[in-house]
This record gives sequence, C-alpha cells and structure tokens, in this order.
Amino acid sequence: METQSQVVDRLRSAFRSGITIPEEFRRAQLTRLMSMMKDNEELILKALHKDLAKPKFETILSEIEIVVNDLHYAINNFSSWMQPEYVGKNLATKLDTCFVRREPLGVVLIIGAWNYPLQLLILPMIGAIAAGNCAIIKPSEVSAATDSLVAELIPKYLSKDCYAVVRGGAEETKALLKNRFDHIFYTGSQNVARSILQAASVHLTPVTLELGGKCPCFIYGRVNVVAAARRLVWAKYFNAGQSCVAPDYVLCSAATRDALLPALRQALEEFYGKEPQTCPDLSRIATPRHWTRLMDLLGRSSGKVVVGGESNEEDKYIAPTVLVDVAEDDVLMQEEIFGPILPILTVESLEEGIEFINRKEKALALYVFSDESSVVKTVLEKTSSGGFCSNDGIVHMTLPSLPFGGVGASGWGSYHGRWSFETFSHRRGCMLRGWALERLNGLRYPPYSEDKLSW
Ligand code: NAD
Repeated sequence: METQSQVVDRLRSAFRSGITIPEEFRRAQLTRLMSMMKDNEELILKALHKDLAKPKFETILSEIEIVVNDLHYAINNFSSWMQPEYVGKNLATKLDTCFVRREPLGVVLIIGAWNYPLQLLILPMIGAIAAGNCAIIKPSEVSAATDSLVAELIPKYLSKDCYAVVRGGAEETKALLKNRFDHIFYTGSQNVARSILQAASVHLTPVTLELGGKCPCFIYGRVNVVAAARRLVWAKYFNAGQSCVAPDYVLCSAATRDALLPALRQALEEFYGKEPQTCPDLSRIATPRHWTRLMDLLGRSSGKVVVGGESNEEDKYIAPTVLVDVAEDDVLMQEEIFGPILPILTVESLEEGIEFINRKEKALALYVFSDESSVVKTVLEKTSSGGFCSNDGIVHMTLPSLPFGGVGASGWGSYHGRWSFETFSHRRGCMLRGWALERLNGLRYPPYSEDKLSW
C-alpha cells in the first residue's frame, strides 16, 4: 500500500513527464470521466441514497446532470480556452508578440464535503484535468458510501499515473496537507478552512476556498407570494436544507410574513404531503451528530415554530420547519443552519433590510424576491455576495457560464465552466521579442539624461 507522500511523488513524476499537457490526453480523460458518470448512474443513486436518503430526482439533478453538463461544456470549449490570448500593445512593443499563456499548475489537491459528495469533487476535477494538471481528490469521510464509490471508480476510468483518490477524515487530511501541492481546492466549513490555510502557508500554496455562511432571502415590495413560497420551499428543503446556497433565513415585513405563511404551508404540503417523514422526496440529515446539532439549535431558539418542528432521531429526520419572531441575536442567527429549519425575521423598509444584510459576513448567495425590478436592482447594487439570484434560489449555480464561489468569509475564488479551468491554470504573461530597433532602445540605456526623459 502506497503512503500519501508516495502517491504525491508518483503524480508529480507524471506531471513532470509532460503526459497531461497534450490536448488529446486531456480530452481522453474528460471523455472517460463522462463514461464514468453515465455507466455508473445506478451505483451513484444507491450511494447517495445510503448517505443522505437523497431522492433519485435530486441526485440526478444535483450530482449527475450538473457534472455531465459541465463536462459537455468543458469538452466542447477547453481547446479554445487553451489558446494563447493575444493582448493589446503600445508603441514600445509594437513588433513583439505579447500574449497570455494558460499553463497547468502541477499536482493539485481537491478536498470535498459531504452534502453534495460527488459533485463537489468532480466539478473542480473537470477544471483541473482540462487545464492539464495531475490531481488528488479527497472525498468526505462523512458521506461514506460515496467516498468508497469514488475511490473504486476513479482508478477504473482515469489514468492512475495522473489522478488518485486519497481517503480519510480530519487526521488523514491534515497529514496529506503536509505534502507540497501546487494548488489546494477546499470545499467545507469556515473553521476547517482556517487549518487548510495554515497548512498551505507552509509551502505558500495558493488556495481556493468554497465555504458557506448564511444566505439571506430578502422578500420585499409587491411579490407573487404563491410563486415565492414554492421557490423558497424548493430551494430551502432540497437536500433537507444541507446546501451551501440554501436560503438560510427570510427577511420580510410583518405583512409579507403573514401573507407568506399560508403559502409556505400550502407549498410544503403540496411537495412533501401531510406527513413529510413518509415522503420519499425529502433527504435525511447526514449523521446523528449533525442531527443533534440542529435539534440543539432548534431547542435553544427563542423563535416560535409555526410549521413543522417534528423530528425522529433514529431516522435522522427533521420536518421542514419554519419559525417566526426570531431575533437577530437568536441562536439560529449565529451560524449557518445547514438543515431544514427556516427562521423568518422582520424588517419594515428596504434600507433596513439592506443594512441588516450588510451587518453580516458576505454570503455565498443572496436572494431577493420582488415583483419590483427597482427593488432587485437596489439590493444588487447596495450589497455584496458570492452570487445573486432574484425570484428563485440555488438555480444560478447550475449555469456553467457563471462563476460560482464566495466573497470574503464565504470563500475565495470561483469555479464551474471556464472558471474552473482558470482556477487551475497559471496565466503566464509572455513577450516574445527579436533584435529589431536596437538603436531606439538606446533611449533607455545609461548614460541617462534629461533629454532621454522628455521622450
Ligand atoms: P466535511 O465535514 O465533509 O469537511 C469537509 C472536508 O474537510 C472533508 O473532506 C473532511 O474530511 C475535511 N476535514 C474535516 N476536518 C478537517 C481538518 N481539521 N483538517 C483538514 N481537513 C478536514 O464538511 P463540512 O465542513 O461540514 O461542510 C459543510 C460546510 O461546507 C458548510 O459550511 C457548507 O456551506 C460548506 N459548503 C460549501 C460549498 C461551496 O461550494 N461553497 C459546497 C458545499 C458545502
């Protein structure tokens, strides 16, 4: 059995050999990755069901199709992304060839999280391969069935010399991080991100951080309450609220809240029935530890539960839950909820809502629901967040032409589509000169003079 550092060394020799550089090699590996996704759909569905009771529909949408779409996009476009980008020139460089060359970084490490355990590994890996890197992927140990499926499939489909899966939890990941990588791409919590940064600082390794935070959903002005409730319920309770871009809390006026509540109840019943625990379309909480954390938050909140609240420890079940009368300093407002619990807080003006949002750390996604485009525009212009979507939730991250990532405490860097390719590429600024105009160059050589400055 190879040690972690032997795996890193093996991949480094492969990278140095230049095997990953030709376009045909990259295309072949991306095509193999596509076959992996297509040949193993049943195994993927089974693993995700075991890990999170993820409904087949949600797995297809959020673990398979999103990856397949990104793969198609990369396969069709990476050849043009690889081409040198010629840049504007000035008088002094008129005769030179000046361009940006995208080069692979080397051996990169991709660390995934458990909530979308396949997508969060394979989407960045597409960019790493397309850009010509070797890659080690480290699945989350929490989603154990997907972890072992990924470890089985990757070596079956991809070059063993260039790509590897290293498994383990916090201790194994800390040990792995002692090795030198050329880039670390981390998805997970803000707390662990701090240790990742510390480890990366030893080798001055650049890092992409895909983190979380509290994504607000600000509902303001005239609004189609029925459509708003349906979209909010879908985005919040998809994967049982365990999405980094799930709306974490709602901000709205007391009047909007009163109109929204019956619409939320109706949408919940329509989607998950009168007894959501028996509904196959609702995921479960990942582990007993995560279930206990959520139940503890719910127990300590001074908000009033107006929908749901039921739970079952053995089944790791928490009903889709809505709370009102939640204060800004409530326990539910101190950290990312990451579960099927939705607090509603009231603000009475647009400015109050914007100030509330701006008092918090910058979110990974910010949602604004309103029929009034001036409201959407004002919130967009007066706030900052990783991504932004009006009148819906989560869907902005499915478009590969949009960068996906955080800002400030919700993350550094971005990926998806071309943005993944850029993340795993070095943009080398190149100037190719000949020997022409040497007499003109005399103007910059000593001996210097005032006359030369006036040029
Ligand atoms: P997790 O527990 O699966 O941890 C993430 C990874 O870090 C795992 O591979 C784990 O093995 C590793 N890890 C854990 N402790 C470590 C340590 N001390 N040192 C080194 N590695 C360690 O997942 P999590 O952290 O619970 O993930 C949930 C968080 O991830 C949420 O905050 C969520 O918002 C965020 N998230 C962000 C995105 C995004 O794309 N921005 C996507 C999904 C999840």
